[in-house]
Amino acid sequence: MTAATGFVYDETYLRHRPGESHPERPARLEAIVQRLNQTGLINELTPIAPYKAPVSWVEKLHDAEYIKKFQAACARGASIFMVPDCGICPESYEVALLAVGGVFAAVEKIMDGAVANAFCAVRPPGHHAERARALGFCFFNNIALGAAYLLERYGLERVAIIDWDVHHGNGTQRLFEDDSRIFYLSLHEDPQFCYPGTGFRREQGRGPGLGFTLNLPLPMHSGDQEYLRALTQEGLPRLKKFAPQFVLLSAGFDAHEDDPLAHQEVTRQGYRAMGRMLLELARDYAQGRFLTVLEGGYNLMVLADCVEDHVRQLISAARGQIDP
Ligand SMILES: [Zn+2]
Repeated sequence: MTAATGFVYDETYLRHRPGESHPERPARLEAIVQRLNQTGLINELTPIAPYKAPVSWVEKLHDAEYIKKFQAACARGASIFMVPDCGICPESYEVALLAVGGVFAAVEKIMDGAVANAFCAVRPPGHHAERARALGFCFFNNIALGAAYLLERYGLERVAIIDWDVHHGNGTQRLFEDDSRIFYLSLHEDPQFCYPGTGFRREQGRGPGLGFTLNLPLPMHSGDQEYLRALTQEGLPRLKKFAPQFVLLSAGFDAHEDDPLAHQEVTRQGYRAMGRMLLELARDYAQGRFLTVLEGGYNLMVLADCVEDHVRQLISAARGQIDP
């Protein structure tokens, strides 16, 4: 196994401006990059240059008409797209394509063996985006497109997507609900009280995909104990049974106790514990192939702390040792 961890980032990602005082702001990525520089971790990472994803690939999961509408809204200087929380600027379309292409580039490097795993510090985030619907700060579903890329370009048959963002990844679930090649596991705050209001336990996939969606909603104010219990007792046994060939992580750090957008109480240590379990899963079943894609996380200090920890874990895992 190669001993490197890839890091996808480009200053262009700062140019998606969803509006003054919007929580999904460019400073999120600046805080991450600043921390990786301050700690010197950046020097241990292999930079991966993102590229603009070809529209033909984005069309694998999003309607052509939807893509055109998004492009046109940006071109005419609209300030929102489809819903009020999806703020845009003229460059948002290009930046969103670069976010998808960042995930593609990381997939390529991992599958080619140039790196063992990677972290994608991309924005806008993606897990709420549906086939023809922008939602929850998301336009194109970065991680879902990455999974589609693994299936179609590399012929993988079993890809796991774990989503620990505090919000349910309605987009990712919908896009693969009838596909048994993708196992989607989401840990999120009780949808009765939390955006986007989906992700009930009864949602388990459809048709051939029935049983390949596992929603583990957790009551408001759940912390490390509840998250780790859900993952250990229910999530991991199912993931092991699925035996993924590649593990994708939708990493939102907004279940942290100090995040302003939700009501969960996960700590930095809790995120580390979950990270270790998933990296062990990838080591045992997927030849260590693990790709993390940033989703939410709106407290800049918490985001920097948690990403620093997670990146340290990726680096250790790439070297064959998984840190606690
Ligand atoms: Zn979120």
